[in-house]
Amino acid sequence: MAAFGTEFTGQMVSSHYENGQWSDLQVVPVAPFSLHPATHVLHYASECFEGLKAYRQETGEVHLFRPDRHIARMTNSAAQLLLEIPGQAELERSLHMAVAAVVDAIPAYPGALYLRPTLLGTEQDIGAAARPSQKVLYYVLTSPVGNYFAGGLKPLRVKVDDQAMRCTPGFGEVKTGGNYAAAMRHVVLAQRELGADQVLFAPGGNVQETGAANFVLIEGNELLTKPLDGSILPGVTRDSILTLARDAGLKVTERDFSVAELLERAPQGEAALTGTAAVLTPVGAFLHNGSEITVGDGQMGPWSASLREQLCAIQSGAAADPHGWRAPLQVN
Ligand SMILES: *Cc1c(COP(=O)(O)O)cnc(C)c1O
Repeated sequence: MAAFGTEFTGQMVSSHYENGQWSDLQVVPVAPFSLHPATHVLHYASECFEGLKAYRQETGEVHLFRPDRHIARMTNSAAQLLLEIPGQAELERSLHMAVAAVVDAIPAYPGALYLRPTLLGTEQDIGAAARPSQKVLYYVLTSPVGNYFAGGLKPLRVKVDDQAMRCTPGFGEVKTGGNYAAAMRHVVLAQRELGADQVLFAPGGNVQETGAANFVLIEGNELLTKPLDGSILPGVTRDSILTLARDAGLKVTERDFSVAELLERAPQGEAALTGTAAVLTPVGAFLHNGSEITVGDGQMGPWSASLREQLCAIQSGAAADPHGWRAPLQVN
């Protein structure tokens, strides 16, 4: 299977906003579309997106994983960007339509269908720097994905940056390209200079998250992570892992914590990144001010392995779904 992000199905769902209303959702071929050079999104980054997955279970049934959470988050992203967005029921229908249209292209677990709902401002007006686009395009692109971990689960080397900001304060809960643009140079620099895989942003010494994944520290019987205060993305995987951790008897603490506390506790603990693409990825070492701090023994710890396994079992259908996270595919 091709690298993640480069292979797509042949059909997607789309809708346009114009003259104050949304067109009916339509299944259309995935194909290049044309945009006028003055299109709002190309200049003023009026866009946001989501990333979620649909899984094929052994029984053949297909479900989406927590689509309600992704819809709520995208609706909030759009609100922060002053972008029009279809209503909740239409968004939900669009996700099911997009999956149903290409259901035969969903690979068996651990493969899945990745859904990329996208919203962008399409008004032709470079004078509209300080007002919302009056035209909007919404589409749900889908991509069959293989086993993300075909090469094994390799613990990451993560640079801890106690200065750089991933995005402007308060805009961290918005899943928008602009935040990725702001973070990218820090990540690329850390890769080039330190051979790091990721950057853990901790501006002012306050640990937040990496460029595209949330962060958790586990030590003793406590799972520690930053609270949702607008500076980080409210990850659906984060919420799922926190819930499973509570179920398993871990004490889940959501509070601010410092780089100093992180580096003091990590050697006898576990650290991990959470996100839809990779579920949970262990951190093997932190790189900070010229030193390298190994997390535990440098390998995936027992809590990380167990929580990851439990979430994967719910997603694959191998385990029960006590929290109602699986949304069975509805074919109109
Ligand atoms: C998408 C994203 C995440 C992960 O969110 P999930 O809902 O778990 O996939 C975390 N941080 C950032 C900055 C993101 O863009």
